[in-house]
Amino acid sequence: MGYDRCDHTHLIEDRTRIAIALLINLFVVPLEIWGGIFSGSFSLLSDGFHMTSHLALLSFACFVETKKKYEFYSVFLNSLFLIRLAMFMFCGALWRIFSPAEILGATMLWISCVGLFGDIVQIFLMYPASRDHSRNMMSIFAHTLSDASFSFAIVVGAICVYFWKISGIDAVVLLVFFPQVFIWGLKLTKEIFCWEKK
Ligand SMILES: [Zn+2]
Repeated sequence: MGYDRCDHTHLIEDRTRIAIALLINLFVVPLEIWGGIFSGSFSLLSDGFHMTSHLALLSFACFVETKKKYEFYSVFLNSLFLIRLAMFMFCGALWRIFSPAEILGATMLWISCVGLFGDIVQIFLMYPASRDHSRNMMSIFAHTLSDASFSFAIVVGAICVYFWKISGIDAVVLLVFFPQVFIWGLKLTKEIFCWEKK
C-alpha cells in the first residue's frame, strides 16, 4: 500500500508546500526568461522556459492532493516534462555549438543564483512530504532535485563566463546535464509501469 495518510492536517500541509513552490516559480520564471534573453545564455533561457511547465504541473499536483485517484497522472506529467527538458537541453546545446554568442556573465550569474536558491527552498519544502509515501509529492521532489542539479550547473557555467569569459561553457553545461535529467525522467516512467504492483 502506498499512500495511506488520511489526516486532514497533512493534506493541508502538502497543499501549502505546493502553493509556496508555485509562488516561487511565478517569481523565478519571468526572471529567468528575461535573464536568458538579455544575457544571451541558452542554458538560463532553457531553464526559464522549462519552469513555465511547473505552473501547470504544480497546479495539477495541488488538485491531486485532494483527488488521490489522479495521482498517476501527476507522476506521468512529471516524467513527461523531465524527458522533454532533457530533449530541450540537448537541442539547446547543439544550437549554442553551431551559433556561439557572447554571454553577459554578471546577469547570468545573479539570476542563476536566484534560480538555484528557489530550487533549494523547494527541495526543503518537498523532502518531508516525499518521505511520507505520497507518490505525488515524491515525483515533485524527484523533479525538483533534477531541476536543482541543472540550476547548480548553470551557476557554475555563469561563474566561468563571468570570471574567465568562457561563453562556450553554456553548451557544455547543457550537454553534461541532459543525460541526468533524462535518467530522472526514465525512473519516474518506470514508476508508472510498476504502478499496479504497489
Ligand atoms: Zn522542472
